[in-house]
Amino acid sequence: MSRHRADIPAGSTIFAENDPPTTAFLIERGEVEVSTVQRGERTVLGLLGPGMLLGEMAVIDDSPRTATARALTDCTLTPIDRRQFAERLAAADPVVRALLMSQLTRYRSALATLTGDEPVPNALDATDSRQDAGAAFDKIRLESELRAALDRGELEVRLQPIEEIISGHIAGYEALMRWHHPERGWVSPAEFIRLAEETSLILPIGDYMLGRACDALVEFRRRGVKPLPFIALNVSGRQVDDTGLVDRMLAELGKRNLPPDRLKIEITESLVLDNARVAELLARCHAAGMHVALDDFGTGYSNLGPLLTLDFDQIKLDQSFVRALDRPRGVAMVGVIVAMTRALGCNLVAEGVEKREQREVLHHLGCRYAQGWLVGKPVTLAEALNR
Ligand code: C2E
Ligand code: MG
Ligand code: MG
Repeated sequence: MSRHRADIPAGSTIFAENDPPTTAFLIERGEVEVSTVQRGERTVLGLLGPGMLLGEMAVIDDSPRTATARALTDCTLTPIDRRQFAERLAAADPVVRALLMSQLTRYRSALATLTGDEPVPNALDATDSRQDAGAAFDKIRLESELRAALDRGELEVRLQPIEEIISGHIAGYEALMRWHHPERGWVSPAEFIRLAEETSLILPIGDYMLGRACDALVEFRRRGVKPLPFIALNVSGRQVDDTGLVDRMLAELGKRNLPPDRLKIEITESLVLDNARVAELLARCHAAGMHVALDDFGTGYSNLGPLLTLDFDQIKLDQSFVRALDRPRGVAMVGVIVAMTRALGCNLVAEGVEKREQREVLHHLGCRYAQGWLVGKPVTLAEALNR
């Protein structure tokens, strides 16, 4: 019997009830009967054939076999080590894992009813599984609530000013999303945006932000704010893939008779590793007269490669560099980044500027824009209009 294939003669037992769950099998050839014996009476639970999995249940939830498998004909089986499943399950989305465990528990309890057996312990009862499932269901619950919040218009937009350092003039705003959850209070965008990105929910959320940002521009115009500030929208991975994004942006602007260059897109550095998609989006934006910023520059995925081919209009320097401005090393690095962005023909925005000294050093180094609590925290449109 080879390690990778097992030839089982007709009539042999492959595994028996109460055996430990070491292996599952893929049936390559032949027919297998799965049965259980209750009070001396044998019940056939199923017949399995080529292409089907055998014995995977006990392997998944690590419980003893609840049935016996016997080869009805000569069979060839490919053994699947339980670790092959365990590793994949561990790497799977916790929601998928919880779904699987819940189905498995339900199946086992139906089986116990059928055979009059003691019900097997609930697979979700093990502490680890329960915590895992709890976290997964929390996530699903939060996602449903986010969907409902979007429908009810409970997501809010905050605008954070971006200042031209030399003039002190507010050139534009970054639109940042806020969600006030009825019980949890303010949920950080870091949490709910990640959740929305896991499903396509980020697309309607992004469109909602787009609409609110355009409404805000209309309001700035109505109040006679000149020159009209720009508003920068953050876009996530799925939005970058969405080929209709730029057209929808143009449509929203067009409806309100707004110039395209008043909307900007921010793409976070980690997304830029997928060069081709971002290059396409950049080309579309530029053809439409819209500017694109590379967000969170310098945050761990740093790789200068993408800057060779992707012509961003703006680079947003991550807060960590601004915080390092109290050290000669930080000043040296930011100085080099200023020179690099200038050579590339784009402008630099320093993020997370909280102190006067930081702005001073940035000014001295030739960084054009600053964003951060020193300039202003993210505020409502009404507050931004009344500054
Ligand atoms: P980001 O695009 O890098 O936005 C800047 C973050 O830095 C914001 O966090 C902002 O509130 C925070 N910040 C600004 N100035 C300062 C400062 O001086 N000090 C400190 N400590 N923090 C400052 P926030 O609002 O929590 O947003 C986190 C991230 O969530 C954003 O990072 C962005 O990636 C994402 N995000 C927010 N709104 C949206 C959205 O509408 N769509 C998408 N796709 N992502 C969004
Ligand atoms: Mg941003
Ligand atoms: Mg940023």
